Amino acid sequence: MKETYFLSETNDAGEEIRLPIGVIHGASPGERITIFGGQHGTEYAGIEAAMRLFRETDPADVTGTIVVSMATNEASLMNWVQFAPTTPEISDMMLQAATGSQYIINCHGGEFTELMHPYVICRLIGNEEAEAVAMRMARAFGVGIVSLSKYRGEPPPDPSGARPAWWLWPQKGLCDKLGIPEITPEVGQVGDRDDSIMYEGIRNVLRELGFLAGPATEHPEPKIIGDRWWLTANQDGIFFPVVTVNQDVVKGENLGEVRDYFGEMLQSVVAPEDAKVMNMNIGMPVKKDGFLIWLGQL
Ligand SMILES: [Zn+2]
Repeated sequence: MKETYFLSETNDAGEEIRLPIGVIHGASPGERITIFGGQHGTEYAGIEAAMRLFRETDPADVTGTIVVSMATNEASLMNWVQFAPTTPEISDMMLQAATGSQYIINCHGGEFTELMHPYVICRLIGNEEAEAVAMRMARAFGVGIVSLSKYRGEPPPDPSGARPAWWLWPQKGLCDKLGIPEITPEVGQVGDRDDSIMYEGIRNVLRELGFLAGPATEHPEPKIIGDRWWLTANQDGIFFPVVTVNQDVVKGENLGEVRDYFGEMLQSVVAPEDAKVMNMNIGMPVKKDGFLIWLGQL
């Protein structure tokens, strides 16, 4: 049986915040998993994959329960808002959607102005058993690159109010609150609606965990990202990158320039170490301290 409904909360401004949920009640009883698409509303691959999973999966083929949040930040999706914050109402509804599940997949990717090399964030929650399951899920997802992420408390306050790069000080996830394994696939880029990698990755995790029948495709042990470098603009300008994602760069290599409107060079962006370009901004404008490129050691 399939069931659909909206979770709903009202914010301080009196606006209704909705979260569209589809539940696939499998023909056989079993565990429960929650899959989120669209926590960032311009990351389309995850939204496409979540909606397709709900639309195309036959409950007769499912063991247990699959809960799908199709458009987790509806305002971000409908208004084309990039990098949208997750409001307390959305956080609360995400918690409701995940409570009772034994696993979480939270689909992300590159936003409209971002290129992204596919990888999977594997959450470490200080519980060996849950972490081992999360690693199994990350491996089964199949893109071959994993980033390990662990909540380590809150960062020291920065005078600018900016939060450091997310992997240095990750925020608490649902997995920390619920004590269950969670992976965050980062797949898709620049508004591309091709969900093939995301969809197949999710389906293989569902096979690996026993929600769908059939053997999961075996993937080799993924590479774990080591050191990372988060490169930002030192002033407002226009960014002219000369590299792309998945490109291996060497220490000292030119990655691009930030210029003013008239061509004056404001900043030369150089690789600090040998690394792979994992994610980058390809929007023209950059603001002081704004994101340009992140590099990972692989
Ligand atoms: Zn995202």
